[in-house]
Amino acid sequence: MKYDVIVIGASPAGLMAATKAARDEAEVLLLEERKSFNSDQGPADTSFENFFKMIGLEPKEEYVIHRVKGMNIISPFGTVITIDAPGFSIDRGKFDAHYAEMARDAGAEIKMDSKVMSFNDGEVVVKEGRTKKEYNGEVIICASGNSEIVKKTGLKTMRHPEDLAYAIQAEVEGVDVDENYFHYFLGKEVAPGWKAAISPKGNDKASVGVFVRGDAPKKYFDGFLQRDMFDGAKVLSISDGADQIITMPNEIVGDGLMVVGGAAGQAGIAYGMAAGMFCGEVAAEAILKRDISKKFLSKYDARWKKRFLNHYKAGRFGLKTIEKMSDAELDEVMRALEGVNISRELSKHNVILNSIRMGFLLLWNNPKLMRFVKYLF
Ligand SMILES: Cc1cc2nc3c(=O)[nH]c(=O)nc-3n(C[C@H](O)[C@H](O)[C@H](O)COP(=O)(O)OP(=O)(O)OC[C@H]3O[C@@H](n4cnc5c(N)ncnc54)[C@H](O)[C@@H]3O)c2cc1C
Repeated sequence: MKYDVIVIGASPAGLMAATKAARDEAEVLLLEERKSFNSDQGPADTSFENFFKMIGLEPKEEYVIHRVKGMNIISPFGTVITIDAPGFSIDRGKFDAHYAEMARDAGAEIKMDSKVMSFNDGEVVVKEGRTKKEYNGEVIICASGNSEIVKKTGLKTMRHPEDLAYAIQAEVEGVDVDENYFHYFLGKEVAPGWKAAISPKGNDKASVGVFVRGDAPKKYFDGFLQRDMFDGAKVLSISDGADQIITMPNEIVGDGLMVVGGAAGQAGIAYGMAAGMFCGEVAAEAILKRDISKKFLSKYDARWKKRFLNHYKAGRFGLKTIEKMSDAELDEVMRALEGVNISRELSKHNVILNSIRMGFLLLWNNPKLMRFVKYLF
């Protein structure tokens, strides 16, 4: 069967790409290997109101299961910085189902239990239940997260694949933390390269994830669960995965081909959804203009870069700088930020100006930090 656009993967990015392309009159098929949205839910289950506002979406009560006032960032030596940034935890099954319904309402066809085995020149081979089927699409959008299928694009979709963070996450009952905040622990001992996170989900439950770059996460996850706040807590389920946090997008379009979301190094639920919208929009334009060349589809890359590249650059710069610091040095930096209203400081300008502003603020609060300027290069 022939479609204008075939989307591989009902990821947050894929669902938004399908919705936008269908709303813009393309005939869209979305193929998802899971049997239902409740089975085998993705581990990503938190976001922030500001992220959703930034992409023009409202988090919906039907999938939000818990709200927080902001986040506590905890240094290796226990210095705590609190940032007011209203956030929420989601029921991922309900979240996926909500946006799938939106895609269907826009006119997209969604096939579950449909695993894409290969694709080439618009021919998509799918294992649908026990049968093998073939579909044809003018434009193929690969939104399959970290799945192997992205290799079939032949593109080097991430600039820094070596920087994937590997994670183990558990749903835990009875963690002794303030349920009004997400809690992010930094440091080489706790989670080198990224973070350990406790994200309350209400009803005495929380997601506990340990994300590590450059090492396997298991020993850090086990070590983290030894902390006092887990005394008497019960692990209900465990999952794992990889977070593309600072891998950065690289080559994400080809002739008749687009890659979006985690598969393209566009990490995060909200950011992936935003990228999906750009991707679906350009796919539909390409169909309308009868031009599915790499040159035309590159408009998606250009629109995405204009809007979001600086956000990812700032994130990568931040984590790479922290990577060069010892735990004691990181603690010293964080102490210089104690008492600063960071959310207010960060709400004023764009991402780059905010980073510069934070740098000056740090030096103002502790001029000795000048010696860390070497880490910026
Ligand atoms: C443990 C963990 C926790 C995280 N927590 C958060 C968080 O709280 N908030 C946040 O913003 N980010 C979080 N992230 C990062 C986040 O997961 C990713 O950046 C983002 O969700 C990736 O989404 P995606 O849209 O690209 O793909 P995914 O969410 O990975 O979805 C890919 C989809 O494609 C389908 N698929 C794969 N292969 C095929 C195939 N061959 N055929 C058909 N379908 C296929 C899969 O079944 C899946 O539905 C977390 C990452 C990890 C590893």
